[in-house]
Amino acid sequence: MAHLVCKCGYDMWNGESPNDIEFWAFSDKTMDELSYEDSIPFLSLPNKYDYNVWRCPKCKRLYVFDEKGYVQPKYVYRPE
Ligand SMILES: [Zn+2]
Repeated sequence: MAHLVCKCGYDMWNGESPNDIEFWAFSDKTMDELSYEDSIPFLSLPNKYDYNVWRCPKCKRLYVFDEKGYVQPKYVYRPE
């Protein structure tokens, strides 16, 4: 569980499960590799993601992490 304060000031927290803050993004290549596995335990999917994305519910900014932690986002996107 972690907190991330958005640039708009909203304090995001992924401690509730489920939540509308955190998303898991899988590349097409990863999805293709996963499709060759006979069965994929649902709980193991978060370990196979390519990007972890947090979306601020207030301003809709996206914070994209590519590491297995929440230290610093690699990209930040703001809606136009
Ligand atoms: Zn925000």
